[in-house]
Amino acid sequence: MTVFSHPEFDNHEHLSFVCDPETGLKAIVAVHNTSRGPALGGCRMFPYASDEEALRDVLRLSKGMTYKSALANLDLGGGKSVIIGDPRKQKSEALLEAMGKHLEGLGGQYIAAEDSGTSVADLKIMGRHTKHVAGIVERIAFNGQPSNGDPSPTTAYGTFVGLKAAVKHKLGREDLTGLKVSIQGVGNVGYRLALHLKEAGAELWVYDIHHANMQRAVDELGAHAASAENILFLPVDVVAPCAMGAVLNDDSIPRLKATIIAGAANNLLQRPDHDQALKDHSILYAPDFAINAGGIIDVFYERNGASPEKVRAHVEGIGQTLTEIFKRSDRSGMPTGAVANTLAEERFQKHSSVAQAPREQIVGAG
Ligand code: NAD
Repeated sequence: MTVFSHPEFDNHEHLSFVCDPETGLKAIVAVHNTSRGPALGGCRMFPYASDEEALRDVLRLSKGMTYKSALANLDLGGGKSVIIGDPRKQKSEALLEAMGKHLEGLGGQYIAAEDSGTSVADLKIMGRHTKHVAGIVERIAFNGQPSNGDPSPTTAYGTFVGLKAAVKHKLGREDLTGLKVSIQGVGNVGYRLALHLKEAGAELWVYDIHHANMQRAVDELGAHAASAENILFLPVDVVAPCAMGAVLNDDSIPRLKATIIAGAANNLLQRPDHDQALKDHSILYAPDFAINAGGIIDVFYERNGASPEKVRAHVEGIGQTLTEIFKRSDRSGMPTGAVANTLAEERFQKHSSVAQAPREQIVGAG
């Protein structure tokens, strides 16, 4: 297994490999870039088939966080961690505490949040040994509702704001009444996105492999039930993938009937050049890491106790960022994913030459 010459290495600033035989903890922490501030990103627990698979995942995800936070204009860098193991069988308090001790030893250059396989409760257990965990503070969220720290409602609202920006740009309309939207995956984010769209008057189609989730959207929101086979290919205005990545690929893109893709799932493009394929099919793609930044914005503000209004205003900036991406794409002829990457690079590379304040101070200044 190579490290420095790994194809995904991309000049990561830090990598640490943790092994604690007593608790069974095997983990990798990756910090891609801290030019804008400390690296904040999820701690994922997954039964990776090999060390190589875990390394590849953490490097890719960590770099993605640098781009996501920079694009969202947050004073945060990009990082991620993975714990190798089955969260249903191998997770224990002792293992999580050992992870917390390792995070503490990193001195705050990386801050962990929830991710797939870890929960608010798990992060709180790590937090017994470190203050470098986030997404765990009970407070009033951007919408005036109590929150346990779970950023999903904010991610869903940001996705709704971004979807509206895409509709305005592509279809020239601000009123969503009668807009046809299909949503793949109605879990934490997808269901709440459906709720916002329903309130705005949209007509919804939903599919979820977990039947009860789909039925809830049908019963409570009047959505039409779709199927695994047709959810992406219905004759709707917008497709919102909110389940899994790589759904935009050589097979799916030519079959899409919608003219807008605006969903929260990470890594929607199977290959980077699939944004060009979408453009070639006259489909407006809202880059995933731009539209789903509500969660990282929420977690950032949790750390400095900002008001719900401030969080909401920042999340609504997702609409402006996307509009800027769409307009640059129109002007330059570049696909939207490439434009979003360039914009993010401008934002984090600009900071590289600036002397850094102590990390906690940077978080507090946001
Ligand atoms: P979740 O697990 O709560 O919901 C995902 C839903 O998708 C579940 O209901 C699941 O049953 C369903 N699903 C899984 N595979 C499916 C398939 N093949 N077809 C249809 N449905 C399927 O997760 P979430 O928090 O809602 O996140 C959804 C997506 O958004 C993920 O890709 C996640 O990485 C991304 N995301 C989430 C956040 C956040 O704050 N939660 C932030 C940024 C990005």
